[in-house]
Amino acid sequence: MSSSAQTRSPPAAAQGPRRLPSVERLVGGAAPEALAAYGRTAITEAVRAVLAGIRAEGASVPDESALRAAVAERLVAERRPSLRPVFNLTGTVLHTNLGRALLPRSAVEAVAAVMGQASNLEFDLASGARGERDDHVESLICRLTGAEAAVVVNNNAAAVLLVLNALAMRKEVIVSRGELVEIGGSFRIPDVMVRAGCRLREVGTTNRTHLRDFAEAIGPRTGLVMKVHPSNYAIAGFTAAADPDALHGLCRERGVPLADDLGSGSLVDLAAYGLPPEPTVRAALARADVVTFSGDKLLGAVQCGIVAGRKALIARVRKNPLKRALRVDKMTYAALEAVLRLYLHPERLAEELPTLRLLTRDRAAIAARARNLAPAVADRLSGSATVSVADCISQIGSGALPVETLPSAALVLTPDAGTGDPRRGAGGRCKRLAERLRTLPVPVIGRISGDAILLDLRTLEDEAGFLDSLAALQPRG
Ligand SMILES: *Cc1c(COP(=O)(O)O)cnc(C)c1O
Repeated sequence: MSSSAQTRSPPAAAQGPRRLPSVERLVGGAAPEALAAYGRTAITEAVRAVLAGIRAEGASVPDESALRAAVAERLVAERRPSLRPVFNLTGTVLHTNLGRALLPRSAVEAVAAVMGQASNLEFDLASGARGERDDHVESLICRLTGAEAAVVVNNNAAAVLLVLNALAMRKEVIVSRGELVEIGGSFRIPDVMVRAGCRLREVGTTNRTHLRDFAEAIGPRTGLVMKVHPSNYAIAGFTAAADPDALHGLCRERGVPLADDLGSGSLVDLAAYGLPPEPTVRAALARADVVTFSGDKLLGAVQCGIVAGRKALIARVRKNPLKRALRVDKMTYAALEAVLRLYLHPERLAEELPTLRLLTRDRAAIAARARNLAPAVADRLSGSATVSVADCISQIGSGALPVETLPSAALVLTPDAGTGDPRRGAGGRCKRLAERLRTLPVPVIGRISGDAILLDLRTLEDEAGFLDSLAALQPRG
């Protein structure tokens, strides 16, 4: 904002402390470009906030150009979106705090296409009658998994809640004690059962559950038998679980549906891509009546939860009033449909689907990229940190395959002595550098390991953008 000379302002004389200019004076002096960009209302609010801050601090009053600069800075900061892109170089491919799966371009375009325009979300273009929103993806899900029917809800936690409520309200749900897990903070199977209006009936022990444990527990009050993928932990040693086929047979014999919460639920055999094996949805459906899985874990699409399985059971799930409360937006269907279509072309899946592309990158290729990038990164960090290359371990993340890790390579940033808070030593220097990396135009998020920050390059695709962002690193501090 430019300052304007105004006659009623007192001369900048050295008589006593400077007084704060009026709001009108600062707003009136705003540059026309600033007025056009931000508008008078926002500028007035920013001026008021800056003046109020100075009054509250009781600090000495800065001169008018400093005040105008503070207002301009505030306006720029206010305009910066809260939710924005970052570089996830943590080594966790599906990082829940960093947005999980990345959408392929085709999905981004599909979302953009339906966002600003009307769409046939619940409208059957052939008949002109009302349609079902799940119709846009149901047949694709069935084709890719062998399910008879499917519904989509807000996330997999919602899918589990809905299945429990629709199939077993006021009834018992039988679960092995080894599968009563907590997943990612607040999703605990026993708590979800209560909220769904079901009674949990635990069978077996933490490490061993047998078919006969289920056989003895199934009775007239049973609504559902449920299996839960342990996701983020593993039981090793003296363990046993009921044979899945035998358990399915038992449930069928007793007329009780069997649900399997897969959590991640891959649509393809990961072992065929050289990755650790994970049950596919199709395989799980051969041994269960209903399965639930996430849209933004290994599937690689958008946040949603999918319930797939037998037609009659899915019909009950769809009719449940909670389905309306847990339903998803048109943008979710657009993204999910586009991603599911990629699975129809499996020959290209590992290239086209970002999650699979990142998971299947091999260590040698990542290490070669790290060596190529290191000099340019060192240049941008000069005076702040030294840069080297080292092997590291990536994780799939989001609870998928917790004990399996992927060999990878990282840039190792070792902060220079003399940066950061000298009282806090190497740890303090690392924390300070990590903070500075978070303030970049596109923040760079790595992980601290010992006295260095590791930037795992498995998940780096936009190298030019990464170097651009690093170039904005402020001088060391
Ligand atoms: C991740 C997970 C969930 C929750 O899925 P969200 O999509 O995060 O809601 C539920 N069950 C299992 C077994 C999981 O791994």
